[in-house]
Amino acid sequence: MKLDRRSFLKLVGSASIVALPGCHDSARYSEADAAALERHWREEHARSGTGPYGVQRFRGYRGLAELPYFELDPAGTLRCTVDDLPEIVDIHAHLGMSLFLAPELDLEVRTPRVRHYLDCDGTTPGCAFDLDVYANANFSDAGLRALRWSVVAQLLWGSRVAATHTVPNLLAEMDAVRIAQAVILPIAFGLPFGDELYERWRGAITRAGARGRLLMGASVHPRDPLAVEKLTRYAAEGALILKLHPAGQRFFPDSPEVAPVYETCEALGLPVIFHGGRAGIEPEYSQPFNLIRHYEGAFRDFPGVQFVLAHAGARDVAGAIPLAQRYPNVWLGVHGQGVTVLSQLIDEVGAQRLLFGTDWPFYHLAATLAKVLLVTDGRPELRNDILRANAERLLAI
Ligand SMILES: [Zn+2]
Repeated sequence: MKLDRRSFLKLVGSASIVALPGCHDSARYSEADAAALERHWREEHARSGTGPYGVQRFRGYRGLAELPYFELDPAGTLRCTVDDLPEIVDIHAHLGMSLFLAPELDLEVRTPRVRHYLDCDGTTPGCAFDLDVYANANFSDAGLRALRWSVVAQLLWGSRVAATHTVPNLLAEMDAVRIAQAVILPIAFGLPFGDELYERWRGAITRAGARGRLLMGASVHPRDPLAVEKLTRYAAEGALILKLHPAGQRFFPDSPEVAPVYETCEALGLPVIFHGGRAGIEPEYSQPFNLIRHYEGAFRDFPGVQFVLAHAGARDVAGAIPLAQRYPNVWLGVHGQGVTVLSQLIDEVGAQRLLFGTDWPFYHLAATLAKVLLVTDGRPELRNDILRANAERLLAI
């Protein structure tokens, strides 16, 4: 069978807990919503370089060595050289994914290099990498096609890219750029089998003796009849936060079907980290689930739960800022936003509500670190808040 993107989506849809929705009502997704996303895509390259940090474009992740915070060692590894950093916590990382029919990966091997999904160091010279656009704008069309195929491979025959997203590879990159701890976020996609990222990743981390540095998040599917039971068990096993991905799990975050999960989080004192906002590269049918206004009901109705919007709302950041201003239980993960928007978040939301996250292995850890170092240069208190203190407060670590 020739598997194009449409038949792949059909296959995934039929395998998951619900079938794919055919369409949404316009209150859920209007033409204006679609237009706003398109406008964001169109305008960001024109805006890049015109903000307070000027042009910040590099060749590959290794090109970041041009910044005063990094250098390339003799082996060509990018290293952070800033001495007075706090013990950095990355609240948003993942390991290699194998799901559904794909064979399990060996997550305990060290490989010669990490193939990030945006494999910016995979070519010479490295890919053009701009710190002043939303991160995924750095994917070329060919890069996006490769990303989609690697998702297919992760579901069916196994991905060679994902095979480099291992525990020792992540730890080595963390060492090189001085990140002390990372929170590993699995996603329960709702597949009928082969949906055990939490168990697989927790097992690999435990066997590698890395539990002190790689902290577990948990995930449950909101429509899993055992969601509450599983969540309670994961929390008892030490999971620090619940990851929910509205587009990946195909639910609206303000839907009553999610209430038992939020109630359980409140009872357990477990924060929730959402994939927040439209990334713009997800399949179109799933974009309504990530629309920023659909998160507000959860923030409003569950004031006792701390919510993190990862990616600070992604391409819907303009809608995420007022929500973070209105609801004191909302935090923003900074991953993805360019330096101009990042400085806007500090000004308009406050550094005390921002959390450092990298979305590794999508990008090199240094990609987000470079942006935070740029916007907090000369402001050590803000730097400490974003890189460490806020995560400490949120996760009680
Ligand atoms: Zn992520």
